[in-house]
Amino acid sequence: RLFGELLAHWARERPTDTALVFGDRSWTWAEFDERVRRLSGALAAAGVTRGDRVAFVDKNHPACLETTFAAAGLGAADAVVNWRLSGDELAYVLKDAGAKVVFVGAELRPALDAVLDRLPAVERVIVVGGDADEYEAFLASGVPHSEADVDTDDGVLIMYTSGTTGFPKGAVLTHRSVLAHGLAAGTAFPIGPGDVNLVAMPLFHVGGSCYAVSGFLYGEPSYLTREPDAASLFAALRAGITHAFLVPAVVAGIAQAGEAALQAFSRLKYLCYGASPMPLPLLRTVLAAWPEVKFAQVYGMTELSGAVTALDPEAHRDTTRPERLASAGTALSGVDIRIVDPVTLEDAEVGEVWVRTEQRMAGYLGKPEATAETIVDGWVRTGDVGRLDDGGFLFLEDRVKDMIITGGENVYSPEVERVVAEFPGVAEVAVIGIPDDRWGEQVKAVVAGDQLDAEKIVEFCRERLAHYKCPRTVDVVDALPRNATGKILKRSLREPYWRDRDRNV
Ligand code: ATP
Ligand code: MG
Repeated sequence: RLFGELLAHWARERPTDTALVFGDRSWTWAEFDERVRRLSGALAAAGVTRGDRVAFVDKNHPACLETTFAAAGLGAADAVVNWRLSGDELAYVLKDAGAKVVFVGAELRPALDAVLDRLPAVERVIVVGGDADEYEAFLASGVPHSEADVDTDDGVLIMYTSGTTGFPKGAVLTHRSVLAHGLAAGTAFPIGPGDVNLVAMPLFHVGGSCYAVSGFLYGEPSYLTREPDAASLFAALRAGITHAFLVPAVVAGIAQAGEAALQAFSRLKYLCYGASPMPLPLLRTVLAAWPEVKFAQVYGMTELSGAVTALDPEAHRDTTRPERLASAGTALSGVDIRIVDPVTLEDAEVGEVWVRTEQRMAGYLGKPEATAETIVDGWVRTGDVGRLDDGGFLFLEDRVKDMIITGGENVYSPEVERVVAEFPGVAEVAVIGIPDDRWGEQVKAVVAGDQLDAEKIVEFCRERLAHYKCPRTVDVVDALPRNATGKILKRSLREPYWRDRDRNV
């Protein structure tokens, strides 16, 4: 199955039905398909051919989806780049992607111009939006082209990992992997007649682009927002969205915005969340506030085109197994999961989560060694530590790189973080391992918040955790470092302590 067949199918079956809504504009399936084919033609005329890359740098915009589908029609891939990156990061990612044509939002044009001399592969820059709107003119110049000479294993999207544990890497996702994800996600998160799917998370992340494709598969309308800010979310609710994927940080924002905001969301049919750990108190709050909403938690990663497990709506409300609320659910269809000891590589009770599925990326763009380290005999090593319960529910414990080994005992940082977070006044916490001459590593908490007393936090943990898990020291800081996706950068917290040592931070 190919991307282009998807649009052609709905353009034939439902030509005059709405495919996409963005602000006060909307497009039918026939219009969307025609625009994408014109854009394909224009890209072909600009010299883009099978195996090439184009790039897109802007906040969410329909042009991003059109660019992805149009490139796919030529066997080329769209590198959707995080618009929040700093100049150096932007240059790094665009150079890594090797894009021939770069589409850039009018507001981001200056940021791109500042690094363009470092990007020799770029032959053409096309500005999206703004006064001239070069994008519309470029698209209009194209002769409609239909998908030809394209294979299901050709790349369609280059999605960069969040860069939480190292430099972002470009995962090459294919027609096969993204469509397999869309179908599997659709069984866990059904979209049917009358439904409207909200695409609010950034398209530079699988939670945006791959989630959007899973919505398109069902031929119902998608509602795209520029950003997941409060005003856009409320406008989307007023417009009648029924389904949404949001990350826990956005759900937390809604919960803190007051009673009226909380009420407004109770109208949703399905709410899918994931991509980072969901705090349990927050989950309990929204479950109680939105009794009619069906919740689905997903766990996944860039390298797997998105979600590979889901905690379904029934499990969210199953009072006989309340502990499962803290799990990431069971494998989606077509997904196999193994738990493997990262040292012996044998099956283990608690260990690294390995995943085998058609949703797997082809590899990291231009990084054969990193690809060979991540894909072993067809299995993807996720870098996450987890375990499966008697019903196959996956519980995530930590990232392999964040786990602390002290005196031979494993300490999973989130377990300690949950306790520290309960200390009055703690707003943010990260627990890391720092060098210890006797025990190998020792546990340290780094906290930000109001009038915090490091000694009292240590005492608080002593009463609630086994001794070896307790932070020995606590650093109080103004704020924790986060990457562009909002995930805490533990490697930069660890770095000063491990300088000149042999741990790979
Ligand atoms: P990098 O690979 O560059 O270090 P990253 O792993 O944060 O960055 P992503 O692919 O965006 O990049 O994120 C995938 C990771 O997010 C998973 O490996 C896992 O650690 C975390 N994650 C995803 N979903 C969940 C979830 N439901 N609960 C807890 N953690 C999750
Ligand atoms: Mg990762």
